[in-house]
Amino acid sequence: MKCIVCGKREASIHGQCEECFLNHIQVTSTGSIEVTICPKCEAFKIGNNWSKGKMEQQLSRKILSHIETKDPNLELEIEKNSVVLKRIEGKIEFLFDVKTEGQKMGGYPMSVPSRILLNSCPTCNKITGSYYESIIQLRTLTAEYSPIIDKVLDNISGMLQKMHNNESDSFVSKIQPMKEGVDIYLGKKNDGIKVSKYIHDHFFSETTTTKKLAGRKEGGDFYRYTFLVRLFNLKPGTVIWGKDKTYILEKVGANALTVIDPSNEKRYDILQNDFNSGSYSYSQENVESRKYIVVSNENNESTIMDNESFALHTVKGSHHGEVRAFNYKGKYIVSSTQ
Ligand SMILES: [Zn+2]
Ligand SMILES: [Zn+2]
Repeated sequence: MKCIVCGKREASIHGQCEECFLNHIQVTSTGSIEVTICPKCEAFKIGNNWSKGKMEQQLSRKILSHIETKDPNLELEIEKNSVVLKRIEGKIEFLFDVKTEGQKMGGYPMSVPSRILLNSCPTCNKITGSYYESIIQLRTLTAEYSPIIDKVLDNISGMLQKMHNNESDSFVSKIQPMKEGVDIYLGKKNDGIKVSKYIHDHFFSETTTTKKLAGRKEGGDFYRYTFLVRLFNLKPGTVIWGKDKTYILEKVGANALTVIDPSNEKRYDILQNDFNSGSYSYSQENVESRKYIVVSNENNESTIMDNESFALHTVKGSHHGEVRAFNYKGKYIVSSTQ
């Protein structure tokens, strides 16, 4: 069947050829779209808010609000991966589809006038200006620098990078090494909460939060938050005192310490909160531990040998191969860790 309008081309929709149909429905654009792109981080602003990633999705929605057709029964769609910004020409090019009564035709090229600006985003401005809202202070229980601080830094670096990639206002303003630890300056207060909580959940530690008035912003008081994280850095073998009891630290977990009561060799867990409540103290004394070879075992007792002096010692439990044992005032206690 030929087109009822032009009578020349084959009819494909509503008795018309595509060209005549498009001519009839008259898709037109109104207004102009303003897009701002940050040349430093590729964040963009369409309308009032800056965001990161998925620009095409947002642009397509915006374009749809700027094009219209005379026929109210038609639905317009922007084709995926067809949106192209032409900054110099001052327009956005795209392909659109037309949907009507279950039929879809498409791939029609069109453009909307546009102002495309290159401008540093507020986050990049803040980074340049060393802006920060919170500080994470990584310290240790003994207030000395210890490798646990580097371990935590390694552990959270991926998390910080991910937050920066996903949210346009997340960034690390500065990482300041100190004699006794590290200060991490963050652009966003909530990131300080998130990161310090993550550290506390994954490393035996104590977090103290303080806030300090730092001026006024947007008509309200502006506070900066400091999250002081004291990481547990005592080594296995450290003598810990509870209420009139002495323990040997055997193992440090994320949420609990395993300690040994040397009088009966029983194990106890000390939870983070209990330790931090101040019911325990610790000494500078470290119970020596070393490796021994098990030479025999019988009746839930083993004989272990010092491979330097060849001295033999009796320990509780049935052991095999090589073990690590504490020597607590002449009493040998096998550790569950190597
Ligand atoms: Zn026609
Ligand atoms: Zn930026």
